[in-house]
Amino acid sequence: MSLNNLTVAKFGGTSVADFQAMLRCADIVKNDATNRLVVVSASSGVTNLLVRLSQQNIPASEQQSILANISDIQQNILVQLNDQQLSDEISVLLDELAEHAKAQGINHSKSIADTILSYGEQMSSRIFAKVLQSVGVDSAYFDVRQVMKTNSLYGQALVDIEQLQKNAKEYLAPKLQHQVLVTQGFIGQNEQGETTTLGRGGSDYSAALLAEALTANNLAIWTDVVGIFTTDPRITDQARSIKEISFGEAAEMATFGAKILHPATLIPAMRQNIPVFVGSSKEPEKGGTRIQQQVESRPTYRSIALRREQTLVTVKSPAMLHASGFLANVFAVLAKHELSVDLITTSEISVAMTFDNPEGSTQALLNSTVVQELEQLCEVSVEHGLSLIAVVGNQIHRTNGVGTSIFDTLKGINVRMICQGASEHNLCFLVDEQQANEAVEKLHSSLFA
Ligand code: ASP
Ligand code: MG
Repeated sequence: MSLNNLTVAKFGGTSVADFQAMLRCADIVKNDATNRLVVVSASSGVTNLLVRLSQQNIPASEQQSILANISDIQQNILVQLNDQQLSDEISVLLDELAEHAKAQGINHSKSIADTILSYGEQMSSRIFAKVLQSVGVDSAYFDVRQVMKTNSLYGQALVDIEQLQKNAKEYLAPKLQHQVLVTQGFIGQNEQGETTTLGRGGSDYSAALLAEALTANNLAIWTDVVGIFTTDPRITDQARSIKEISFGEAAEMATFGAKILHPATLIPAMRQNIPVFVGSSKEPEKGGTRIQQQVESRPTYRSIALRREQTLVTVKSPAMLHASGFLANVFAVLAKHELSVDLITTSEISVAMTFDNPEGSTQALLNSTVVQELEQLCEVSVEHGLSLIAVVGNQIHRTNGVGTSIFDTLKGINVRMICQGASEHNLCFLVDEQQANEAVEKLHSSLFA
């Protein structure tokens, strides 16, 4: 078998949630012989449990119940497979996990936290390799830490891409000639040999990096939705799956809230020009979305993304008038606290910026030190409870009437901030959280009718 037509197939947590789900994925792999490298997430729910387990000061009783819970999820799959050797391997891993949890209870460290987080993928990949074998695919488990070397930024580790490319050619490619390999998303290894993780939802990104390193022909992301939609189908039943979309548009969507892909996923794919397919492992026959460089049509409006829980910070200083360096000082404070600004607009003496708020982290930061430090420089006001809506498409910045089409539709809804012009692919604005769904519904029915 040569590698001149290689697909890297990634299966997300819900796709490998239980035995039945894994069987469907195994069929997908089996039905297309180009699927040779398989990247899996942890079975659905496991990483969330591990996150809790990795935290400081977990009561012993809760530790026990989390471990039991994780064990149950894996056991439910194992009973169906009835493979003693595999069951033993998973038991060993569960014992190790219990040890790490105990150690974490005594002396908490970020390094142990990452080690703990890695067990979901360590187990699901071993199990899925066996499920593949059970349907007649010659497959083996591969430990991605042999090739995915990272720095030591635990929880958000950065991958050494050059090293990965070298390692992939040396260790992975020869093995892929002979067997389908099943490996882990999300995890890597630092120079000291400790396990690291790439950030929540990072399995997509792992798969994309591996596809790039192997110069794969395709990257397939199998999840629980039939591709990328024109907007969140939970907001309007008018939402429909997009057949084909360009890298640029899809990247904007991933950044601005469409939760389907980890935002970094498309970067390696774009570098190597690898088409990315997104589909549902539950309903592979329904097709999905193809993301690639060349697309047949480039409509002005492709989709509407919504991101909730945005924080708007406005800084104001008369000293900014005709002054230089003020913005640099403001951004220095933000950079110091590792806060990343999303949207920005300025007027003569004030600047408004938005921040995403993953797991409440930004709000907590902004509420304390950051605002105090900014107040040394200027007046600061902070508003919560906003939603960011991004209209994504093509040539938005050069098309007549875009503003009218969008804002006429939104009559009666207060638009708090507007950003347009930096990208040809989007126009973004903020609205009150309470009016966000209504705004998206109205826009979708007017732009996509
Ligand atoms: N299992 C990890 C998470 O839940 C990585 C992933 O699924 O992409 O974040
Ligand atoms: Mg995911």
